[in-house]
Amino acid sequence: MTAATTSRSATELAAAIRAGDLRAQDVTEAFLQRIAAVDDRIGAFIEVWDESARREAEAVDRARERGADLGPLAGVPIALKDNYARRGFATTCASRILEGFRSPYTATVVERLEAAGAVLLGRTNMDEFAMGSSTEHSALQQTRNPFDPTRTPGGSSGGSAAAVAARMAPLALGSDTGGSVRQPAALCGVHGLKPTWGRVSRYGLVAFASSLDCVSPFAHHAEDLGLILSVIAGHDPRDATSLTAAVPDYVHAPEPNAQGLRVGVPEHLFDDALDPAVEQCVREALAQLQQLGAELVTIKLPHAGAAIAAYYVVANSEASSNLSRFDGARYGPRRSGERDLDTMYEDTRTAGFGDEVKLRILLGCFSLCSGYYDDYYLKATKVRTLIRRDFATAFEACDVVACPTSPIPAFTLGEKLEDPLQMYLCDALTVPQSLAGVAAVSVPCGATPDGLPVGLQLTGPPLGEPQVLRAASAFQQATPHHRQEPGL
Ligand code: GLN
Repeated sequence: MTAATTSRSATELAAAIRAGDLRAQDVTEAFLQRIAAVDDRIGAFIEVWDESARREAEAVDRARERGADLGPLAGVPIALKDNYARRGFATTCASRILEGFRSPYTATVVERLEAAGAVLLGRTNMDEFAMGSSTEHSALQQTRNPFDPTRTPGGSSGGSAAAVAARMAPLALGSDTGGSVRQPAALCGVHGLKPTWGRVSRYGLVAFASSLDCVSPFAHHAEDLGLILSVIAGHDPRDATSLTAAVPDYVHAPEPNAQGLRVGVPEHLFDDALDPAVEQCVREALAQLQQLGAELVTIKLPHAGAAIAAYYVVANSEASSNLSRFDGARYGPRRSGERDLDTMYEDTRTAGFGDEVKLRILLGCFSLCSGYYDDYYLKATKVRTLIRRDFATAFEACDVVACPTSPIPAFTLGEKLEDPLQMYLCDALTVPQSLAGVAAVSVPCGATPDGLPVGLQLTGPPLGEPQVLRAASAFQQATPHHRQEPGL
């Protein structure tokens, strides 16, 4: 039963538990066994919450026996990236600066998952403070790609992506600021959805770049993204930036069907930087969508080429401000402090932050300095407006925009560590959507000759989740790619 259970979709597991065909405790046990069997080779989890997970599963089985109402995710195991607060549990953002920190409160999305009956499996590895594209900037451990353990799972939510890819969890939460869920989803052969900015409350998600951060789920199956989104989406008075728009039915959204769907293809983004095997898979996926009744139209995103430059100014500026709270006075361990307050800050931050985080804080402070502000930060926000307008214009001619998620497949561990710019270029096709705040999903669309997964990115307008999920489901139903499982 174990293998079959861990390969099933969250939607199927939830239905089977509700119908009494499966016990929540057996489902949780199957995933815990899978973690015990394979995670020493992958390194997806920083901490497995086996005891509390077993208790939560037992509570679901008891509730069912009593005939109580079961939530939409009752008994479904879910992994959380290590940047969500859960009262009484550790949250470290894979940083030494939060060693030993326990959250005094619970993130809104975690509360909603708990209330929906989900079983929380544990915390997954990530780039420190979500800064990176390979999970190698974690201060705690290395995560490997389940399809090839010599390669990265992508990042920064690499632990959550690898956990879902290796069938250690049917669903996981990551966070996507510039591509950190879509890119690892592509590199690990799973689905990853970045909802519209503000669609899901950020309360209790440790802030990296607040105007870009999005709570974002991973799943094997496109339908599972709608299931979890329906639980976590919606206004939250504790996040003033969360949208008040009504939450549509993402589960029984329009029939998955690409008939008449206008798919915009930004041909100019299929350039020399694109790996030929990635391009081939994405071209085949576009042809497939056409066979399913979609109409392909060529569109332009004229300012997308400036997105990386603008993103790294905006994101670093916000990060430099957000991360100033980690000073040794309030969170995590305090170092030194014998001489004076400034020395305490300096020693704590010098010892606690890794090099990439320090680099970003320095760059962010620089672009916010008076004298440089107009040349960097202000200019970057103007580019951001242009990119937002590019998408608005594109959506006059199409319903979704389709392009690769990542220009390259999973790369070798260590390959880009010495050259931050090479690492940043991994985000070339995901940061335009982040700056524009629109909805985007990465869908498995094939593999390179070496067997490395490739992702197709489908982007919709703000609050366009129903149409990107509909396109993703239609594509999934017509293709076998989401069924590729790593040979672990
Ligand atoms: N790779 C990008 C960065 O390093 C995106 C990170 C993210 O989305 N959290 O900033």
